[in-house]
Amino acid sequence: MNHAIRVHEHGGPEKLIWEEVPKPDPKPGEVLLKQTAVGLNYIDVYFRTGLYKAPSMPVTIGMEGAGVVEAVGSGVIDLKPGDRVAYAGALGAYAEARVAPAEKLVKIPAGVTDSQAAAMMLQGMTACFLVKQTYALKKGETILVHAAAGGVGSILVQWAKHIGVTVIGVVSTPEKAALIKGLGADHALLTSDNIPAKVKEITSGAMLPVVYDSVGKDTFLTSLDCLRPRGLMISYGNASGPVTTDLGILAAKGSLYVTRPTLNTYTAKREDLVATANDLFAVVQSGAVKIGVNQTFPLKDAAKAHTALESRQTTGSTVLIP
Ligand code: NDP
Repeated sequence: MNHAIRVHEHGGPEKLIWEEVPKPDPKPGEVLLKQTAVGLNYIDVYFRTGLYKAPSMPVTIGMEGAGVVEAVGSGVIDLKPGDRVAYAGALGAYAEARVAPAEKLVKIPAGVTDSQAAAMMLQGMTACFLVKQTYALKKGETILVHAAAGGVGSILVQWAKHIGVTVIGVVSTPEKAALIKGLGADHALLTSDNIPAKVKEITSGAMLPVVYDSVGKDTFLTSLDCLRPRGLMISYGNASGPVTTDLGILAAKGSLYVTRPTLNTYTAKREDLVATANDLFAVVQSGAVKIGVNQTFPLKDAAKAHTALESRQTTGSTVLIP
């Protein structure tokens, strides 16, 4: 018996249907996993609403999970039944058992629990490429991070502090402000603040080399106003809706750069995926970055988890237990 959360038609959390599905057989290059933990990510909302399109419907949403290898397809040589593995970026995670491409899987190191692994792969590897590659942060710089108490945000704040950066985090409530201060953020601003004015004050007018913005539509222009001339706007998500602004604004606001990066591109090659995952496991095992699994729901209650995420009630990472 196998169960999954499937979406038959796009819409609200009520479109997440818990149902019996066949247990798949691994094809060549694939691995059958008995999943122990599934990561909740904002991209799951985009697939549910239809902002991002699945290749076919109905679709088992979810991109991230951890579990135990049950069987391997032909050609899979480096994994065997019993191995503990985790992955990010493979659609079909909201299931008790699933098949996944072996090339997407990494072994979970000792000392990291399945729940932590499911919570950190997607959000943590994203934070990793954002602070090291999209813009290679340098000690002494000052940055702004939106949704700083969220899944990616919490990890990004800690990683940036580990590099020696001054972090200005933006959050919607005083409780979240206290949370990010606890993670090491130097300044906690509220979404209701005049953010560019505060940044000007904090930086004595210099403004910022880079802004990390996962909110999208609502914060795009504010973020541009926090940058110094030729600064970089990293727009890596659309929690409030996609950005549709005309490019002319970049000229008007000081020859700014914008990038819209995705984890998929940064970990498309197996060697990049393994290097990014190892980098992440290392900062977590060293204690420099802590993974806050702040909410846990049974997988069959995924609708409740989506409601919590979209209504901004979650902090850190959320895990769904099959
Ligand atoms: P979060 O835990 O960060 O949850 C979203 C947060 O965004 C909320 O808690 C809220 O924080 C803030 N927010 C601001 N405006 C809204 C709004 N209108 N509706 C809902 N939330 C809002 O989620 P994740 O960590 O899973 O993802 C964060 C972002 O990063 C998402 O946009 C996601 O798409 C993106 N992402 C991008 C990746 C990539 O490869 N480019 C990979 C992974 C994630 P507050 O209440 O403090 O404002």
